[in-house]
Amino acid sequence: MTLAPCLPCARIIYTTGIKKVIFRDSYAAYKGIEVEEGVDFLRRFGVEVSHFPKEEKK
Ligand SMILES: [Zn+2]
Repeated sequence: MTLAPCLPCARIIYTTGIKKVIFRDSYAAYKGIEVEEGVDFLRRFGVEVSHFPKEEKK
């Protein structure tokens, strides 16, 4: 996914049994809030969350 999961999406991801999430853009930065609550939620429940910055297109 391109955007970090928000909290409702994080819950869905967790309940579907996904073990690893890779996102490109920060949801917190997108929403202008301090905490990455979806990411925090997933990490707390043992889901691996990785952030891959946007790739430059050449
Ligand atoms: Zn969402």
